[in-house]
Amino acid sequence: MPRQGKINSSVAAHKLSVLLRARVVLPISRPPIEDGAIAISGNRILAVGKWKDLSRRRSGRVVELGEVILLPGLVNSHCHLDYTAMAGQLAPAKKFTDWLKLITTSKGGWTYSDFAESWLEGANMLVRTGTTTVADIEMVPELLPDVWTSTPLRVMSFLEMTGIRSGRPPKEIIREALEKIKSLPKGHCRMGLSPHAPYSTKPELLRLAANASRRQRLLVTTHVAESEQEFDMFNDRRGDMFDWLARNQRDMSDCGIGTPVQHMERQGALNEKLLAVHVNYLGPGDAALLGRRKVNVVHCPRSHTYFRHQPFPLAQLLSARVNICLGTDSLASVYKARKRSVELSMFDEMRELASRMPSLPPEKILQMATINGARALGRTGEIGEFCRQAFADMITIPLAGKPVEAFEEVVYHRGQVTASMIDGQWVVPPPGLNT
Ligand SMILES: [Zn+2]
Repeated sequence: MPRQGKINSSVAAHKLSVLLRARVVLPISRPPIEDGAIAISGNRILAVGKWKDLSRRRSGRVVELGEVILLPGLVNSHCHLDYTAMAGQLAPAKKFTDWLKLITTSKGGWTYSDFAESWLEGANMLVRTGTTTVADIEMVPELLPDVWTSTPLRVMSFLEMTGIRSGRPPKEIIREALEKIKSLPKGHCRMGLSPHAPYSTKPELLRLAANASRRQRLLVTTHVAESEQEFDMFNDRRGDMFDWLARNQRDMSDCGIGTPVQHMERQGALNEKLLAVHVNYLGPGDAALLGRRKVNVVHCPRSHTYFRHQPFPLAQLLSARVNICLGTDSLASVYKARKRSVELSMFDEMRELASRMPSLPPEKILQMATINGARALGRTGEIGEFCRQAFADMITIPLAGKPVEAFEEVVYHRGQVTASMIDGQWVVPPPGLNT
């Protein structure tokens, strides 16, 4: 496996109680705390509060983090780590189907070690830029669990399933995925199922994945209503995607009877265990249906911009009380200017969303990148917020302005974090800390 670069995943755990002090602490589930502190022991948070209160009640080693904002590690609810090395290689296509053809050709020439190196490069980027938990789509499950043990990230690995081109029976695809899940160790990283998208799967595969999710309490993630072409295919039996897939022997009898969201509903695939990714194109009643079924929606702002989709239906989804989280998607669908580098970064996603929707409060954007993602992944109270017994997953960025502007500072932060802790261990140690 490639080396981890500067990121240190082997720093010894601080088993004794440690008190971290920062100019501003953002617990997310509570109001911001000026001159705040967090007490941790091992990999868990013991207490969160004002420095003057905590320092009186708690003993332990003190780490002065200084003029920084201390916040929970970011939760990236959708990523394809193994596509990281495709950054800037696919020119933005006019049609979504053209991009699908491009990426299929591009990854066709990759070897196992290309995918592994690309995966780890992406994981390192995420650690540097403040993600501590990622929901990742695994196209090459053979990489697991080697890549898991080479990153300090908490990874929720979703096994990608398609089956249109291969013509494999959905029962066989699901059986193989469930066997893979059973064969891997349960610990820091976990697994779920990812029927790729309604257009790239048979309806039976969506049904079987939903059944397995209910029986085995597995999470499921699917790309839903990403493009206008997908919407036209399901709703109206027309458009480029319909024509392309019909030519490629897909049984199109599930088209022309409703929107992609309604297609998911017909397969019994809408529930609180589903992370529906993108959800850019909705028909009447779709948002309300997603809200009723407690589906989690993942928005990927830079990928949305790259494909020039119509505006994300945020207001509709919010008024239907849908839990909305943020993801980076892959670097294969992020615009890269010539001679500029591009990174997987939840800060870049938050900033993109803020620029597209200036009336959205920064506090809400940060919730989408933390506590909402935790809820979608079934980890409320464990990650994405500072509360008693949560995992000690946290990051710092410099505080350049006033403490009251901390949410803005986070959302508009560029580049790397100044420190990151995952599971009680510094994976990016704060400057000057003697570990
Ligand atoms: Zn995706």
